[in-house]
Amino acid sequence: MELKDVKIFIPEIPKEWTQRMRSGNTNIWNDRFCENGLPEIRLEPPIRGLYAERFEDGWFWVCGCSKCLKNNEKYPYIVCEEHDRCITCGTHRKDLTEIPWGHPDGFQCKPCADREHKERKEEALRKAKEKSHSEDDCWRQSEIICPVCASECSSDDMYESGEHEMTCYVCDTEFIVEVEYDVNYTSKLKET
Ligand SMILES: [Zn+2]
Ligand SMILES: [Zn+2]
Ligand SMILES: [Zn+2]
Repeated sequence: MELKDVKIFIPEIPKEWTQRMRSGNTNIWNDRFCENGLPEIRLEPPIRGLYAERFEDGWFWVCGCSKCLKNNEKYPYIVCEEHDRCITCGTHRKDLTEIPWGHPDGFQCKPCADREHKERKEEALRKAKEKSHSEDDCWRQSEIICPVCASECSSDDMYESGEHEMTCYVCDTEFIVEVEYDVNYTSKLKET
């Protein structure tokens, strides 16, 4: 039987109980914050990738692995043993030697992330050279443009005008961004 078809009855939990929280793989009924007077019970699923779900006839362990269920869930909350793998090369998490990178579809191992970073960097540098990109192309733009590789960088943490240091996420060049804000004022009469 495939994990997605698993439905295992949980005898410990009365079907009337409705307050179930999840903390990683652990399922917690009547967490102390519920304050419903019922005893707190914590259970681990019998197989990794399952979680507890309430049905009309009680609580059951069912599959919560987005890969098994093929539901395309982003930043999946739980994953089964079989699917706990690098999204690019398929290396299992237990075989990793370095901390992987999180990804909307799971995780990517460091060697894959490094390789993709290198490819993206080389591609950007090649294109920038092709169109003779220079600092002159970065003057008073509506986006932050890397002076070396011409990538658009995020301005998310720049709230103040003045000079900011940043590192290009594509080519790793450190550069300076000068932020100018245009202020506009609009005056109108109060509504009465
Ligand atoms: Zn799975
Ligand atoms: Zn990988
Ligand atoms: Zn760059």
